[in-house]
Amino acid sequence: MTHVEHVPARQAGETRWPDWVDQRLVTRWANHGISGLWPHQAEAADLIYRGQNVIISTGTASGKSLSYLVPALSSTLDGGTILYLSPSKALAADQLRALRELDPPGLRAATYDGDTSFEERAWVRKHANYVLTNPDMLHRGLLPRHAQWSLFWRRLRMVVVDECHGYRGVFGSHVAQILRRLRRICARYGSQPTFLLSSATANEPGIFARRLTGLQMAEVTTDTSPRGATTFALWEPPLTDLRGEGGAPVRRPATAESADLLADLVASDVRTLAFVRSRRAAETVALTTRARLQDLVVDGEVPADLPGKVAAYRAGYLAEDRRSLERALRSGELLGLATTNALELGVDVSGLDAVLIAGWPGTRASLWQQAGRAGRDGQDALAVLIARDDPLDTYLVHHPEALFGRPVETIVLDPGNPYVLGPHLCAAAAEIPLTHDELDIFGPTTKEVLADLVKDGLLRERAAGWFWTSRGRATDLADIRGAGAAPVQVVEMSTGRLLGTVDEPSAHSAVHTGAVYVHQGETFLVAELDLEAGVALVEAGSPDYTTFARDVTDISVIESLRSHPLGQGELHFGAVEVTSQVVAYLKRRAQSGELMGDEPLDLPPRTLRTRAVWWTLPISAIIPLAEEGLDLGGAAHAAEHASIGLLPLFATCDRWDIGGVSTELHPDTGLLTVFVYDGHEGGAGFAERGYARARDWLTATREAIASCECERGCPSCIQSPKCGNGNEPLDKAGALRLLAVLLSPDTTDATLLPQATPNTADAPPLSQNTTDTTDAPPQNITDTADTTPLSAGTAEMTDEALLSADTADVTAEKPTG
Ligand SMILES: [Zn+2]
Ligand SMILES: [Zn+2]
Repeated sequence: MTHVEHVPARQAGETRWPDWVDQRLVTRWANHGISGLWPHQAEAADLIYRGQNVIISTGTASGKSLSYLVPALSSTLDGGTILYLSPSKALAADQLRALRELDPPGLRAATYDGDTSFEERAWVRKHANYVLTNPDMLHRGLLPRHAQWSLFWRRLRMVVVDECHGYRGVFGSHVAQILRRLRRICARYGSQPTFLLSSATANEPGIFARRLTGLQMAEVTTDTSPRGATTFALWEPPLTDLRGEGGAPVRRPATAESADLLADLVASDVRTLAFVRSRRAAETVALTTRARLQDLVVDGEVPADLPGKVAAYRAGYLAEDRRSLERALRSGELLGLATTNALELGVDVSGLDAVLIAGWPGTRASLWQQAGRAGRDGQDALAVLIARDDPLDTYLVHHPEALFGRPVETIVLDPGNPYVLGPHLCAAAAEIPLTHDELDIFGPTTKEVLADLVKDGLLRERAAGWFWTSRGRATDLADIRGAGAAPVQVVEMSTGRLLGTVDEPSAHSAVHTGAVYVHQGETFLVAELDLEAGVALVEAGSPDYTTFARDVTDISVIESLRSHPLGQGELHFGAVEVTSQVVAYLKRRAQSGELMGDEPLDLPPRTLRTRAVWWTLPISAIIPLAEEGLDLGGAAHAAEHASIGLLPLFATCDRWDIGGVSTELHPDTGLLTVFVYDGHEGGAGFAERGYARARDWLTATREAIASCECERGCPSCIQSPKCGNGNEPLDKAGALRLLAVLLSPDTTDATLLPQATPNTADAPPLSQNTTDTTDAPPQNITDTADTTPLSAGTAEMTDEALLSADTADVTAEKPTG
């Protein structure tokens, strides 16, 4: 245990009803035991009532929904309509249930999504005054067929964007443009609805909200709801005797530690939920916990029925099974439940004493959402964050201030990305031709992007504006969940069974010919990857090795958009083109990690135009380091890995959303350069955020490396699970030195540089130096973002996407368990 934080209980603020709330509504709520609004709810409700756009950004269970329901239901009483957007169908269904239970006068609420039947849809369009839907449906259904909704738009008073912290990265950028299209349609029908955004706690919620909607937003961030005290522990699993890649020590998996803790808590009659990051881990943790408890039964230490009081819960279970698990947990029939984040949103499970969180859940918002599950009726609760074997988790369990102080992560998106904006301009023009005076709504790059769309023949320009003249659906151009090209299907050759799909960008490295592919705990060998047919043919097998794709990546700088000095070096943000090609794969023995062979592959290169943040160091700064015998390539590579691992602390991304390239000498900069880029066409805002917070980000990177107790590097600091170079070369001490030079106070630059200048003159050309230090890889050292483009929205999908990341965890677990 590295830290214990006592989060004190909070007294509730005094409740009241704003005087504009109709008495009939007050009575309904009173019947449901609600006697008024807490101050933060009243503040948000009052602002909305006065027509001010608001983002309410407070913790779990702080009653955010009441703060918009009060003005929303007041509006419907008054003849207005409400549009409610949630990231998932499940949450919308949950909200509808709550509305129906409340049963306020004059309310005609309905969901409108993929599950709504044709007949119901007609009814909803004509009669509903409270429509619950999602951004996908708004994009494909409501906006393109706006004319059928004219009555609804005309009276639209308020748009609720619930759980909006999920709208980040490329998905968030799409949602931002969908909301702009919505605003434009409303304006055409003569309404100007007020926007209420509800978000988990985040840094600078107002700025995020403005980016998401394009509107000025008031912030409500002070939580005045009551809360029991929580004891929050940070837990770091120990290093084991096992050795992984490059002989690095391996930590005990977070899932194994969770099972131990879960067994201990259940044996002490503490009702506990253990959050894990994949469906498989949920099963493994439940099974292992039961086995541990069974041992205690045999020893006569606990009652014989105790192992039966532990279960797993995850997406993919039937709804009735899930409901009965929820009931059993509430009633105390179950004492321990290992679950994925499928349980995070919307589902009401109260009456828990403790929560275990195996691995950083990605954002503080999720962390508090999960921790907030513990504490029945305001009683004290326990939460434990158990670190996984990666740099960010390691950093966090050693830097509690990053968790318990002010939030540092900002929800990042980039609506101006031309790859996002273009399709939505087409969709908007298809809805109603775009006129000159409407362009501002879509942001400053609109004119430029429109010109390209006209040039490409997608839109026609006339004196009156821009027209969509194709017969196809413009909305098909925007792939809002970022699934990209059609995914590659993984098919079992002998049976024709479809095992699953791999998104197209990942296919080259995940299911290339000869790859070992793990699916739901079963192992398969890829017999052939047929890119044209979009199929990977596999056969079941049990090879004693794992495979790892190697790729060659080139990055070229298209344009540096911003730059400034950083320490003795320079920091840039700009446009880059990344070309990568999977060229071979390594076979490693499963148990020892020993290298068994290197097989060539013949796959086409892929290119990605995106945004990157990069830093360079001048020759004068690195020559002294090279003279000390430091491996500059390995040092830059190690710094790159760790910095990719830490960026999610500052930008709400996943390390799989970003990639990196490091090189001792880059042809475009002529210097030692480390790039970190967005793994999405056109960029997603993550690299930009890295540029804005570079000093903090790289300082945290250095601390993460320094605080790891391994000697020469391990997965907790500088090794990366997705290194295209097989984690070679890496130099831990060198990375610390490079980062120190980069983070040295700016004032020292002036004194250091002149002294160093003579060196550059008589030093041998750096290229010679370079070949000396890195004789191994002729190419750049790269970390391709096999972006599992995450659909930030739904819990299910995130869970699925994380499955691959967990494989290492599970394999490593066997020897320990
Ligand atoms: Zn380490
Ligand atoms: Zn690497």
